[in-house]
Amino acid sequence: MTADKIIYGKIFTADKDNSIAEGFAISGGKIIAVGSKEQMDSYKGPSTKLIKYDAGLITPGFTEGHAHISQTIELLIGPLVNGNSIEKCQKQIADFVKKHPGTTPILGSGFDPGLFGPAGPDKKYIDEVCPDRAIMILDSGHHSVWVNSKALEMSEITKDTPDPDKGHIVKDEATGEPTGFVQEQAVMLMTKSMPEIGVKEYKDAILEYQKIALSYGVTNAFEPMLSYWNHESAICEAYRQLEAEKRLQLSYRVALTLFPYMDPKVFYDKLDDLHREFSGHDKLQFNTVKFFMDGVVDGHTAFLREPYKMPPYDCGTQNYEQEELDRRVTMALERGYRTHFHAIGDAAIDEAINACEAAQNYVEGDDFRNQITHLQVCHEDQADRMAELGIVAVVNPYWHYKTDLYEPLEYPFLGKERAEHMYYLGSYQKRGIIMSQASDFSVTIPPDTMDSLHMMVNRYDPHYSDEAYFPEECISVEDALRVLTINGAYELDLESRKGSIEPGKDADFVWLSQDVTSIPKMNIWKTKILETDIGGKVVFDRNEETVLDDIA
Ligand SMILES: [Zn+2]
Repeated sequence: MTADKIIYGKIFTADKDNSIAEGFAISGGKIIAVGSKEQMDSYKGPSTKLIKYDAGLITPGFTEGHAHISQTIELLIGPLVNGNSIEKCQKQIADFVKKHPGTTPILGSGFDPGLFGPAGPDKKYIDEVCPDRAIMILDSGHHSVWVNSKALEMSEITKDTPDPDKGHIVKDEATGEPTGFVQEQAVMLMTKSMPEIGVKEYKDAILEYQKIALSYGVTNAFEPMLSYWNHESAICEAYRQLEAEKRLQLSYRVALTLFPYMDPKVFYDKLDDLHREFSGHDKLQFNTVKFFMDGVVDGHTAFLREPYKMPPYDCGTQNYEQEELDRRVTMALERGYRTHFHAIGDAAIDEAINACEAAQNYVEGDDFRNQITHLQVCHEDQADRMAELGIVAVVNPYWHYKTDLYEPLEYPFLGKERAEHMYYLGSYQKRGIIMSQASDFSVTIPPDTMDSLHMMVNRYDPHYSDEAYFPEECISVEDALRVLTINGAYELDLESRKGSIEPGKDADFVWLSQDVTSIPKMNIWKTKILETDIGGKVVFDRNEETVLDDIA
């Protein structure tokens, strides 16, 4: 058999032995052989293209295990408000308003609630720069919004508006007036102060994400869809149109979120329809149910076994009663779906594991690969149970570091003991738990896979310091490369076609500027993605700095 293309270079295959090869041959977009240079030469024909990558390393395409792809919309339509002081945030908002005159509401994102102290952000800071136009800014973790007076007025939020279930409108202790900080499920009350966003905007957002992802070597991505604004049908339609127009280049696997207040029967009917519509499709499938188990530590909403170390000394927010969760997870497994849990606190992780156990005991089968992501406050006994149940750990290496602010920001919530032992990696690895990695984009910007690789191996963020956080949890570069490649493909049910460079698989690969398996590990983060290929075709080329739009 002759090949269309033969790739020569140093190749990390991510096969079961982590073999290094000298080349692989491609025909019809598939890998037909992998091995030594001499072995590959035998696939040469008169029209075979020979491509030599002299330096660096070739790896399989990467998987993004959890990114809010459609929410890239926030980066396209509103200001990124990520200043490290209130004044800088105000300036970012003011600049955007000046550049985009008019009266339409503005939706931005990115602020850090920690900037504002225990009371949280206040509407007055936005009112000072823009009093007459509704403005809403999502926090970087997407668990709350900071709004101005006009936005509260448009959404008719007053001191008499009660908190919805699992949501909180922060109110001034003296006057009872809303302060402009709206948390968790209460965000959904703000729909009337939203700019109009439709299918076209979401298509642009998905394509923008795709461009970013390809430039970091990502060829498969999981979208845990989350729309506070009931935009789910517009987002689904955007995916549907892009798929029909053959503009989806990555393989996307999409979840719908089953919130506690939703009727599970109605929810599963909707997911069943989407699942059927795209079943057998390459680039797009709806195959997962997302469960929101809790909130975040600095919002005091992560659900903990032991109370927070600050008032009101409670254990945070429990979104689901265990029995109800068990029932809903069982429904997911019965229908053949994967589940994906957002769980930050240890009590939330307990609940997720319990539900997986209950459902797996009830439903027949042995390949469930339920997934838990974030996994911030976790313990050895939980890792043991995850290993036993085959739960996939979708970790966020981008967050596994500390800065000078770590002590003042984290200790008051959790105390030293808990705060210094979070975010396992090695503890999962040594138990044989399959780990996939995720940026939670746009929580992490940019979603640079080489930062992720660096932080799995080193546990520090090279952009801040070189002091490792909980260094016992570091893993080897080979294991970390597997997390990015074959394990990620496993999370997305794609491992039979993707995730390693082996005969029969799609010719998806990434060319790294440095051989990360042999350079000093403190230099991993300096690695650049030079090229990304999907199905044997170049879809990102750093030299051209463009993403080729047609691989259809
Ligand atoms: Zn997320």
